[in-house]
Amino acid sequence: MNSYQVLARKWRPQTFEAVVGQDPITRTLRNALASGRIAHAYLFAGPRGIGKTTTARLLARALLCLARTSPEPCGSCDACRDTATTDVIEIDGASNRGIEEIRTLRENVKYLPTRGRYKVYIIDEVHQLTEAAFNALLKTLEEPPPHVVFILATTDPRDIPATVLSRVQRFDFRPMAPDVLASTLERVLVEEKIPFDPAALPPLVRAASGSLRDALSLLDTAIAYGDGRLEADTAAGLLGTTTPAEVKAYAVALVAYDTGPALEAVDRAAREGEDLHAFIRDAIETLRLALVLKAAPTTRLADLTPTEGNELRTLGEAVSLDEILYILRALLDADQMMRESPHPRVELEIATVRATRRPVPHALDEVLRRVDEAEARLRGAGFAGGAAAPPAPVQQSILDSPLESPRAPGPAAGPTARASRAERPRGATSEPARGSVMPQGAASASAPLRSAGEPMGAPMPASAPPRGPGEPTLSPAPANAAPRGTVEPGAPLASASPRGGDESPGAAASGPPSDLAEAWQRVTEEVNRKRALLGAVLAQVRPAGLERGILTLVLAGNQFHRDRLLEPLNQDILGQAVRRWVTGAERFTIAMEGEADGGPRAHPGVQAAMAEFRGEIVAVRARSPEGDAP
Ligand SMILES: [Zn+2]
Repeated sequence: MNSYQVLARKWRPQTFEAVVGQDPITRTLRNALASGRIAHAYLFAGPRGIGKTTTARLLARALLCLARTSPEPCGSCDACRDTATTDVIEIDGASNRGIEEIRTLRENVKYLPTRGRYKVYIIDEVHQLTEAAFNALLKTLEEPPPHVVFILATTDPRDIPATVLSRVQRFDFRPMAPDVLASTLERVLVEEKIPFDPAALPPLVRAASGSLRDALSLLDTAIAYGDGRLEADTAAGLLGTTTPAEVKAYAVALVAYDTGPALEAVDRAAREGEDLHAFIRDAIETLRLALVLKAAPTTRLADLTPTEGNELRTLGEAVSLDEILYILRALLDADQMMRESPHPRVELEIATVRATRRPVPHALDEVLRRVDEAEARLRGAGFAGGAAAPPAPVQQSILDSPLESPRAPGPAAGPTARASRAERPRGATSEPARGSVMPQGAASASAPLRSAGEPMGAPMPASAPPRGPGEPTLSPAPANAAPRGTVEPGAPLASASPRGGDESPGAAASGPPSDLAEAWQRVTEEVNRKRALLGAVLAQVRPAGLERGILTLVLAGNQFHRDRLLEPLNQDILGQAVRRWVTGAERFTIAMEGEADGGPRAHPGVQAAMAEFRGEIVAVRARSPEGDAP
């Protein structure tokens, strides 16, 4: 064991041929050596551990060799065998950065080599030299003695003065491609006769970020850790990453809606003492890569082997981009929450359930199709001159919240069944609320209804006015509706109510804005008592108006706040408090500040679908106006 030599040293290339992953550079240098066109100064730039110093030493040895007949040193002449030669001078720029050192260097370059034609100076981390030292070096570079070759190496070429850069032949070393790194490690393991699990290599390769030296030293440690073998889980444990197979199984389960297996993967990771933060980060990374490869299938990702790339493409095949985005969003939120939560595992499990119970895209399309059909039927009914009452109640029933009735009745059954219940609060509250709340939040108060607008609300204003004055069927309405119509042109919906504002509770229900503000104060107090986190979210929320039993809440916060508000439990708690304290409110709807005046979120059909599935909008895509198909 005492003869054990670390792999990075043992496998340091002895020939240009053996340098891995820097082919263009080694080829150019070998050509120069073969033709004898040697520059006086070279700059080797690139990240650490990718072969700059090794290549510099190989070049130096080749230049010193006395019997060289090819680009490679002969290996047997006096110069090649003299390991203590004074003709190769290595200087660490980091510890010899001052002008004195460079002055000494300038003195010494004058002396001829002890044997052979060349004296080679290798200055590592040359960018660390002081300005004065660079100036001194520049003088030598401007008029170099013919027997001197400089090889400057740096990880940061931007810190080197342009005057110096213009006098060197520059080579940029690239981080090693992951597949090259992986196959190199594999070759080393095979030749060293070390048993290994191929699944252990990708995390090692990733951790090495393109550096063969780092990869080999990680390999050394992993083998020692694994008692002479390289195992996937010991390597993962060593690197502080999770077992790749475990993360992969988790990602596959998420994508496949498999709540059980996904939770089991979390459980296994927790029981085996894996760091759940690392686990979720690895899952995020896996899905991120699947997302990128799905969005741009031909992308060649630098840190992936082709095998990994194909696995990730397969992972993404089964789902839409929107779904991957949804899952990623759930995991990113959880990652954030896990950092603050005393129960990180629960946060991870919540995200797991959320991601595996995401809305099925087809189901949502199906709902939207049915909403469109109902709309079309409505439009037909409205113009057919039927009863004035149906339009509003029908729309009401589509909007009905699961808080009130988990099964929203079909458009056909709904109207008559709930017409009377639905109208009372509507008639009671809409009239005064409209007048009083307007100044405060006019746009948002009526937004969800009016911007419902495009396909759905449009027929209403269009059909109502002619009906109002003209048609006899509406005769009870004008009496109530007349004053309203003059106050608020957007009111035709309310005018459809035969009973309108003749209910006295109306006055109590709405009142001036301060009443709503006061009621909202009570709501937030109750919520705060029951669930402080939700209470905190409500600080970002203001009530914008109450109309037809629907309290519109405007959210000034971000996606995080919206997500909290959309959680079923939170919806229940808030819904209860709203019904208890806001007179006349049967349910609430949430509008984001700024989008309140329209947008797809405000479409009643979308709101109905979201309420029905307790879902949320992940993405909005255009579709042809006439087509039902997605
Ligand atoms: Zn030689």
